[in-house]
Amino acid sequence: MIRTALRTAAALVGVGLIWAGVAYDDSHAQTTGGVQALTGARVIDGTGAAPIEGATIVVSDGRIQAVGRNVTIPAGATRVDMSGKTIVPGLVNAHGHLQADASKRPARDRLTAQLRMYADYGITTVQVLGLPLDDVPEGIKLRDESRPGGAAVDRARVLIAAASLRNLKTEQEARDWGNKYADMKVDIIKMHITGGPMDMTPAVYGALIDTAHKRGIRAAAHMLYLKDAKGLLDKGIDVLAHSIRDQPVDQATIAAIKARDVEYIPTLTRDIAQFIYEGTPPYFTDAFFSRHIPNSYYRDEMAKLKDPANQDKIKKDQTAQTTKTWLEQGRKNLKTLADAGVTIALGTDTGTNEGQWQGYFEHIELEEMVKSGLTPMQALIAATSGGAKAANVEQQLGTIAAGKQADLLVLNANPLTDIRNSRQIHSVWIGGRRLASVNGTN
Ligand SMILES: [Zn+2]
Repeated sequence: MIRTALRTAAALVGVGLIWAGVAYDDSHAQTTGGVQALTGARVIDGTGAAPIEGATIVVSDGRIQAVGRNVTIPAGATRVDMSGKTIVPGLVNAHGHLQADASKRPARDRLTAQLRMYADYGITTVQVLGLPLDDVPEGIKLRDESRPGGAAVDRARVLIAAASLRNLKTEQEARDWGNKYADMKVDIIKMHITGGPMDMTPAVYGALIDTAHKRGIRAAAHMLYLKDAKGLLDKGIDVLAHSIRDQPVDQATIAAIKARDVEYIPTLTRDIAQFIYEGTPPYFTDAFFSRHIPNSYYRDEMAKLKDPANQDKIKKDQTAQTTKTWLEQGRKNLKTLADAGVTIALGTDTGTNEGQWQGYFEHIELEEMVKSGLTPMQALIAATSGGAKAANVEQQLGTIAAGKQADLLVLNANPLTDIRNSRQIHSVWIGGRRLASVNGTN
């Protein structure tokens, strides 16, 4: 009733208040301390271990207490029959953003709406690699509220980098910014090395990385070129936030990535989004995509992206067209690095520019990873434990194991037989509570 009233009110005033809203479904949610047993499912735990058929997951206090075939179900537990379902860890996007909603609504409303959109698609944790400074205080608040072990939230958990740092001139400037961000209590520091003439020199970004490490924070870099990746690795970067796309990755670079256990985030959909709107993409008619259109900022973006004049502009745009070549090199490097045993983490760059759809593109990214030569299992690992490693939350999130947070994505079909089955969402659980979509789609 309340939801209906909200929807009506939103329609009346012409704002999309509830476009991606997920709320607790009280028919399934348990009060704190209640024990639930999810029974009969195929469990893919996110580590790469073989699926467990007919498994039980016992959940209480927001955590997984036990998982396996021969688990004793505590007396008094609420049983939830999951036979025929496949349960994977809630997906982790290690490189997302929260800038898609450009409305003038208060920061909290804008940010939570986007985090709900992610959650509605089964993305239960998002590492935001770049957030406008004005939004950082609210972002940090939302991060604190969503910390594993805290009160359950009805939106994706979030980790925050402040605005990406670029073009700093001196080491002192880099140290000052690093300390300023650390004082703001960010989770990670993001920097841009574009290959352009204004870039920070290695000495300057080295000072930034060093400052981050001294303050107990990791550092991630936007980059494109192999030479920049080498320089960043040399200075101790923790996360490569995009693909190396200009040439094949060489053995020395592979060794450097592995030696320091750096996570590599391909963001294939970021590149695809640069050129795909030279036409109308097939997914505009995919129900898994379009279910959110009527009430979201998606609608205005779609109208623009379908406009023939805009499509023509992209056809003639040199960078957009060059990105096709970069993408192909990025795919090859992803395969090479995955084969070499590098930790791959799913990331998308969603929520930055138009046409980079929060929630939906994470599923396209999974499919594109498989098209690039990864197995569905490798892609799932990247989207769960790999993403959690890149977001430095692998102690609490990213796998289905005793002691981990009960963030779960329940699917109606097995993603190992077809990775596109990640879109067959039955339900999304965060901290042991099932989210219900107000759109009635999950
Ligand atoms: Zn980004």
